[in-house]
Amino acid sequence: MNKAEIIRELKKAMAFYQELGFSCLPVRSEHALGLLNRRDCMKDDEISKPNEAGDTVQGRDEALIRLREEIGDCTRCKLSRNRKNIVFGEGFPEAELMFIGEGPGRDEDIQARPFVGSAGKLLTSLIEKMGMRREEVYIANIVKCRPPNNRDPEDDEIGTCRPFVERQIEIIRPKVIITLGRVSTQSLLNTKIPISRLRGKFSEHCDIPVMPTFHPAYLLRNPKDKWLTWDDMQKVLEKLKSG
Ligand code: URA
Repeated sequence: MNKAEIIRELKKAMAFYQELGFSCLPVRSEHALGLLNRRDCMKDDEISKPNEAGDTVQGRDEALIRLREEIGDCTRCKLSRNRKNIVFGEGFPEAELMFIGEGPGRDEDIQARPFVGSAGKLLTSLIEKMGMRREEVYIANIVKCRPPNNRDPEDDEIGTCRPFVERQIEIIRPKVIITLGRVSTQSLLNTKIPISRLRGKFSEHCDIPVMPTFHPAYLLRNPKDKWLTWDDMQKVLEKLKSG
């Protein structure tokens, strides 16, 4: 069943339960969240089958849910004052590929989902050109709340939020991380080296290969550089094939 069919079935089920007098669906939150990732194309035994590290999709899903609960209605830094929603991240808990952006923009803040605005559309089409579906990868940001007027997140904000993206990486353990743009690249790699020198070459974070590339918002402004990003993606695909 694809996502559209699941949504249709859920709508029917909700109407049915409403007729019976229920005001909500009797579904556990972790199962509902699971519908947003690649479980819809996995068999039940795949979901509960442990991987080499001994954990399951369900285990990682639950760890992500616990992490989201730990973040709570966060007021740990000043970004909390202006945000509408925390944008935790989304995707497949066992993703081989993880994208890390800078921080939510206006659309993301409204929808509480990463990369859903115009830069997000470009990112989604890049993922699809790589032969994957958005639901198969994991997408997160360095900071989980929108910086006012889309300014860059400041060092104290990045420092406060960093443990959460670190934990997401630890739970998902992707084979490759792609950092999008200067802020996420320099933050994750703990460096001030300009993105122009880091882009297109693998670095490492906790033994995971990291490929820095341009931010999709930059590519919208500089479409002539798309081919460089496409080059970076070829290297990532090679790495995924070889690992
Ligand atoms: N830019 C980012 O860095 N992250 C988003 O989620 C959206 C735009």
